[in-house]
Amino acid sequence: MTYRIAVLPGDGIGAEIVPQAIRVLEAIGAKYGISFTFTEGLIGGIAIDKTGHPLPQETLDLCRNSDAILLGAIGGPKWDNLPTHLRPEVGALLPLRKELGLYANVRPCRTYEALADASTLKKEVLSGTDMVIIRELTGGLYFGAKGREDVEGGQKAWDTMVYSTPEIERIARLAFEAAGKRNKQLCSVDKANVLESSRLWRETVNRLAAEYPDITVTHMYVDNAAMQLVRRPSQFDVVVTENTFGDILSDQASMLSASLGMLASASIGGEVALYEPAHGSAPDIAGQKKANPIATILSVAMMLEYSFNRVAEARDIEAAVEKVLAKGFRTGDIMEAGKTLVNTEEMTNRVLEEL
Ligand code: ATP
Ligand code: MG
Repeated sequence: MTYRIAVLPGDGIGAEIVPQAIRVLEAIGAKYGISFTFTEGLIGGIAIDKTGHPLPQETLDLCRNSDAILLGAIGGPKWDNLPTHLRPEVGALLPLRKELGLYANVRPCRTYEALADASTLKKEVLSGTDMVIIRELTGGLYFGAKGREDVEGGQKAWDTMVYSTPEIERIARLAFEAAGKRNKQLCSVDKANVLESSRLWRETVNRLAAEYPDITVTHMYVDNAAMQLVRRPSQFDVVVTENTFGDILSDQASMLSASLGMLASASIGGEVALYEPAHGSAPDIAGQKKANPIATILSVAMMLEYSFNRVAEARDIEAAVEKVLAKGFRTGDIMEAGKTLVNTEEMTNRVLEEL
């Protein structure tokens, strides 16, 4: 079996961490007899510089003709002042998700025993945290009708949170299934005491619940969820929520792992899934060989599991990462006294040794 991977390193540290994750995929391939082909494409600021567009048609075609996409990071100060439609996030990431129909963003978030002291949160609070946040990605407030109008005294502006039953059903089903593969607890987050779209969300989740009798469903208002996430994060297994709520909660949850450099993500649901670290292009450390490659390495573990159903291989990578951390190897973002500081490539070397 040969899997075709579209490789989009992008900007900043993207170009440093993506090759490291590829080394890990190659090692897994050698160990389990899987072959991969890697084809690079341009996206983000580097694509603007070389082609004038943040998402060239060629890149989109490459993605469509691949079995999975590995993305590094896009954007940086150099491109921040371009017109909105050309800015890397708006001009590349949103259209890529939309074109490929990627309606679900999956972000696992767990604490690592070895990193408990590296976090800004207390060990007792973090202990036992192992959850997945599933965020709806193509509807809700970010995509509903928006506009501006002149009114007396200035202007008025509006954004609309819109969800249809089928949109809620597909993300809810994905979440029920994810919960079924984990600890069978699904928490749906909404604001049904205030928002009509949330009421439809909650009704739809409850209706589907009948089809998944082994899953325990709870509902939580988003304000309470934000509080519970830092009060006792271990209470969550799978969380499903709409676009805006998920955007905020998943960034908040990222602090439960010690560093953004530890967090993987997948955007799924469409023709071909996209895997990327949860962090951005980190312009402040780009080019210095000190970026933590683990978020990207864990993202290819997700790729193996979600796109190729290679679960043992995914667990193997995760176990290797844990061993490396337990042995005390640290990149700068998770460094503490008494540990061994390594650079991007050395960290990967350690993971490869464990594999
Ligand atoms: P974006 O807008 O693309 O999300 P951002 O401004 O939110 O970017 P990031 O690029 O995610 O920011 O970086 C936030 C901080 O985390 C920076 O200080 C950066 O150096 C650090 N950081 C992010 N990723 C890593 C990594 N892999 N290793 C080490 N530090 C990282
Ligand atoms: Mg960010």
